[in-house]
Amino acid sequence: MALPKHIETRLFINGEFSESSNGKTFDICNPATTKLVAKVYEASEEDTNRAVAAAKDAFPSWSNLSVEKRASYFKKLANLIRESNDEFAALEAASMGKPMGTFHDAMMCASKFDYFAEAGYLVQGTTSVQTPGFLNMTLRQPYGVVAAIIPWNVPLLFLASKLAPALIVGNTTVLKSSEKAPLTSAKLATLVQKAGFPPGVINIITGFGNVSGSILSHHMDVRALSFTGSGRTGRLIQAAAAQSNLKAVMLELGGKSPAVIFEDADLEDAVKQTAFSIQMNSGQVCMANSRIYVQDTIYDKYLEAFKERFSAVTMGDPLDKSVNHGPQADAIQHKTVIKYLESGKQSGGKLVLGGSAPSDREGYYIQPTVFSNTPEDATIMKEEIFGPVVNINVFKTEEEVLAKANDTEFGLYAAVFTKNIDRALRFAKGLEAGNVGVNCTSPTTGRDMPFGGYKSSGIAREGEPTYSLNNFLETKSVLIKIS
Ligand code: NAD
Repeated sequence: MALPKHIETRLFINGEFSESSNGKTFDICNPATTKLVAKVYEASEEDTNRAVAAAKDAFPSWSNLSVEKRASYFKKLANLIRESNDEFAALEAASMGKPMGTFHDAMMCASKFDYFAEAGYLVQGTTSVQTPGFLNMTLRQPYGVVAAIIPWNVPLLFLASKLAPALIVGNTTVLKSSEKAPLTSAKLATLVQKAGFPPGVINIITGFGNVSGSILSHHMDVRALSFTGSGRTGRLIQAAAAQSNLKAVMLELGGKSPAVIFEDADLEDAVKQTAFSIQMNSGQVCMANSRIYVQDTIYDKYLEAFKERFSAVTMGDPLDKSVNHGPQADAIQHKTVIKYLESGKQSGGKLVLGGSAPSDREGYYIQPTVFSNTPEDATIMKEEIFGPVVNINVFKTEEEVLAKANDTEFGLYAAVFTKNIDRALRFAKGLEAGNVGVNCTSPTTGRDMPFGGYKSSGIAREGEPTYSLNNFLETKSVLIKIS
């Protein structure tokens, strides 16, 4: 599949496209070929402030519209997104290496706008007559300007998960895309314009953490900020909020997710699911099961089957629809994964599959890699690698493995495979994670279930029917004295 002839690379502020105020651009290179794809405008401090000012100006009239009117723009946008599916897929493939044959992001994005178009009436306040002489009530009201900062691994889904709920309840928005994958957000901005959203309601800027991300996090007119990305950046954003206006901050951060396989599990299914979890998107998934614990009685059988399944990927150009294993997103990600592979080789664990970049291929590829019996305190057991790299360790008892699974600062997703209902429920309760899969693992999620992390994997929950909507609303108590 070829790239579109025209690639949008400008900033979308107040309903119009513009170059950056200082003319600065950054390069997007194809991670499969390392060749230049586009020069993208980088938002300056002035541009970022202009985007926030546009959102602030647009807020009074947008928040006064009916839900139906706001929803009418969502429906137009969702249809335009679906029509552009192949273009979105090609842009993502060429900028961050996601194989086109595995691309569902645009459909998921459109579906979020469709869902929230219907969900505006779901959030309501409460009333109380429990205080004599009073009728009291709460009002749920939008914050005003909401900022969204997204990562590069599933950009369109995160864009919609933040913008759609924030907008439908009356906020206006500024989204900063990731410097590694800005092209689909910029393309979506062209569709926002086509759908006829009033100027300033959705502003989409491209740039780095420094300048534009940091300006948004410190901005006094941004009242809420929803972030998905690394823990390191999440902490900087939380600190910026504390140093500025104490804006509400939602953080969806990284993981080091365990999957526990007991001897009574359906082995074939467990292998299939756990291998897909760490292979999908070349391991660049926050909830990927990067630590697998297998009971000693089935360990050898599981390991052999896992290696066979995990190595059978079709590696190649992500623009080719038959490929299911693309490169890492860019040179930085590739270098980071290689560094972890070297650390793993020194850790005392055993390398049993892969372990390097393929020698016969240009671009930022990594072989599917398995380490076995890595010491629990090794760096590759503790830190998020964000690559197709998994540790498969052995355990004997339930108590031992629950302690090991929970011995992490992360808590995004955990999985247990067993046919024993009591044990399954003990693990559902005992695993320290915001999401627990029983006989399933990530990326399995429930559309009407909250998504988010325990511990350092995040703050707040996103999801339907109302979790995300509640993130973007203030609560006001109104006390009415009845004479
Ligand atoms: P990142 O933290 O490097 O960047 C994320 C975004 O933050 C980018 O847009 C970046 O420009 C911006 N940013 C960087 N520094 C900033 C600063 N000082 N202030 C404000 N913004 C700043 O993360 P990434 O590499 O893009 O994404 C990978 C990470 O995201 C992984 O840790 C992954 O686990 C996590 N992630 C989490 C979820 C989830 O739902 N929990 C989903 C996907 C990815």
